[in-house]
Amino acid sequence: MEEIFDTIADEISRARSVAVFTGAGMSQESGIPTFRDAQTGLWARFRPEDLATLAAFLDDPPRVFAWYLQRLMSIRGVVPNDGHAAIASLDEIVESVDVITQNIDGLHARAGSASVFELHGSIERFRCVASGHAFPLDAVLELADGSDHVEPPACPACGALIRPGVVWFGEMLPEEAVAASWESAAKCDVMLVVGTAAQVFPAAELPSVAAAAGATIIEINPEPTRLSDWVGYRVPATAAMALPRLIDRLAPAGSS
Ligand code: NAD
Repeated sequence: MEEIFDTIADEISRARSVAVFTGAGMSQESGIPTFRDAQTGLWARFRPEDLATLAAFLDDPPRVFAWYLQRLMSIRGVVPNDGHAAIASLDEIVESVDVITQNIDGLHARAGSASVFELHGSIERFRCVASGHAFPLDAVLELADGSDHVEPPACPACGALIRPGVVWFGEMLPEEAVAASWESAAKCDVMLVVGTAAQVFPAAELPSVAAAAGATIIEINPEPTRLSDWVGYRVPATAAMALPRLIDRLAPAGSS
């Protein structure tokens, strides 16, 4: 295992541009369940896919709104892990670093990463279903009472229901984040793929975009994924274990 860290540290030290593509496994060691874990918890009766659609929200707004409020409160109660911190410290080591995340938890920014593209939105931003009018987070937090049915507020501007600012199944990804992510994938020398099963499209295309443009793909995930057979390097370890070990080999002399 030590050898692979030396090899990939060498790849990264020669890179001018690194893209880090992350999924739910990135935040697992912060205590946020992945999709798979979520199916064993409080909401085991529901498939996340059945709650994470506009149709599900419109069918039963209080139930879906309450589910997101509970996720929001649990995310606010955790902190970035050593893996997030290691990724943030890449900013000091590599000329250009972009973090492209499928996570909605905001932990990369909280850890200090400067360039983060949130492909699936953020659980800390709310807006109305009709026109996308922004709704203040503070007003949402006042409604969080832990119950499993919470009536969503009405938009002060147009009266429509307020919804979480996450991308639901079947919805378009945010245009700006998509453009920036695809550009980053196409220009990077190395892409680190951390904690994603790479099954949710179109985000899951990004490693292929980077590979087609000549980047070296490094996968960090304790379990094999649909990418594992063709990536350049695969590290079968967790994010919070592997990433600090990698950064230790890269940190400029005198720092660590
Ligand atoms: P996924 O749940 O489908 O897959 C998680 C992957 O992470 C798996 O391959 C698993 O082996 C790996 N993993 C688990 N623990 C790990 C660890 N400690 N270190 C490294 N890897 C680990 O998640 P996905 O691929 O991100 O796709 C599911 C969708 O779920 C995404 O769209 C994402 O937006 C959403 N989601 C986000 C969060 C979050 O914001 N934290 C949490 C759950 C789901």
